[in-house]
Amino acid sequence: MKRTFGVIGLAVMGENLALNVESRGFPIAVYNRTYEKTEEFMNTRGKGKDIVGPRTLEEFVQALDRPRKILVMVKAGGPVDAVIQQLKPLLDEGDMIIDGGNSLYDDTERRTKELESTGLGFVGMGVSGGEEGALNGPSLMPGGTESAYRELEPILTKIAAQVDDGPCVTFIGPGGAGHYVKMVHNGIEYGDMQLIAEAYDILKFGLGLSNEQLHQIFAEWNTTDELNSFLIEITADIFKYKDPSTNEYLVDLILDSAGQKGTGRWTVLSSLELGVPIPTIYAAVNARVMSAYKAERVAASKELNGRAIHYDGDDAASFVNKVRDALYCSKMCSYAQGMALIAKASAEFNYNINLPETARIWKGGCIIRAGFLDKIKNAYLENPQLPNLLLAPEFKQSILDRQEAWRDVLILANKIGIAVPAFSASLDYFDSYRRSRLPQNLTQAQRDYFGAHTYERIDKPTGEFFHTEWAGVA
Ligand code: NAP
Repeated sequence: MKRTFGVIGLAVMGENLALNVESRGFPIAVYNRTYEKTEEFMNTRGKGKDIVGPRTLEEFVQALDRPRKILVMVKAGGPVDAVIQQLKPLLDEGDMIIDGGNSLYDDTERRTKELESTGLGFVGMGVSGGEEGALNGPSLMPGGTESAYRELEPILTKIAAQVDDGPCVTFIGPGGAGHYVKMVHNGIEYGDMQLIAEAYDILKFGLGLSNEQLHQIFAEWNTTDELNSFLIEITADIFKYKDPSTNEYLVDLILDSAGQKGTGRWTVLSSLELGVPIPTIYAAVNARVMSAYKAERVAASKELNGRAIHYDGDDAASFVNKVRDALYCSKMCSYAQGMALIAKASAEFNYNINLPETARIWKGGCIIRAGFLDKIKNAYLENPQLPNLLLAPEFKQSILDRQEAWRDVLILANKIGIAVPAFSASLDYFDSYRRSRLPQNLTQAQRDYFGAHTYERIDKPTGEFFHTEWAGVA
């Protein structure tokens, strides 16, 4: 019997997605470059399942029903191109390749064009949710050949996470749209994680709270409408986990140097190219970069004596609530930035991305899943032309109600010398966005002074440019 679906790449993601597809009743074939991995999989997790694991790529392709549907889950970059080039001569018109890795959207754009021109379908699909999501229901962000997506839809809607308003999958748009949205999803994830880290820093090292108290605070925050989310939930869990070999809290034993694989950096680069300010996400990427300078920071900590880090106010309990409010306000700003970037890319690249649907498919399965995404979905449904999420009535009110607390938290952090780059970038974003007049009139004057770059005047019609011989004025 021919197989309905094929998976290439049996590392963490491919293996779990393969099992997910099979568990929904689809017979599958799997293939891995190193055959020993296929064998191992077939003898362990794949055993007794409706799965075949041929040794060669030719046999794998022949095992599939037409039009062939092949999910590629290999290392992003060159390996994806290598697999595509090996597959191409083996496929027939109408067959489709799905790249489920974290590919750069530009690469996906190129691959889609190349494969569509040969009569094959190509779907660049962002997959979020890590290992557990891949197995039980991820959030899927497919883009590329729409007709191929329609063929895949019955399978993808079954394997995706299911939420109250449907499966966490939708066709994002043509070309690299799916991977673009996945990239920004990851940028937002960087922002969320950094904001949580800053809240932790203030609570632990500023207010001196214990890990047990932190566990309780985060568990409580996870019950709130505003902050209920996967990342807050796992953060609460982390604070109570004790290392079995030392009986100490594991979080305290972990080196404070964060890794990254590039999607946050790509988000920032794209935002700079498109001219969309995303300072919170940028700050989050930078914070990971700075964290990697561990040895230098340790040396500098002995030289650059700043303020003693502790809170000397009297009502620590109410300050905890201010930190919660600051986290929520900053989170709103971070999502406003991410959604604005997607909207701009959609217009620029003709992706025609549906913003309410994008927020909806992030409600389940993925790392940034949160109750809060329902509010974002509704905000864009109520006003599809919304220029910025912060202007949606609900978000506007939420941020205005909490801004004093937010400012208090930043004042304290600055006073006691705790760096809060993403909190600060968020407040600066808010304060810049709500100012009708920024100091860039001076910037324009300077540019005109040294480079004759010209300027517009507020008392003259837009589009009329002036130049002044500034040096002679003294
Ligand atoms: P990975 O470690 O990124 O890649 C390993 C797989 O790629 C192996 O099957 C390996 O085959 C294959 N591979 C590498 N180079 C190859 C080549 N030149 N030709 C053919 N196959 C090649 O695997 P992963 O962690 O499962 O991730 C897969 C993709 O999903 C990546 O793009 C990743 O960024 C993305 N992703 C990962 C996660 C996660 O939580 N891990 C979440 C979302 C998305 P061999 O066994 O022969 O070496």
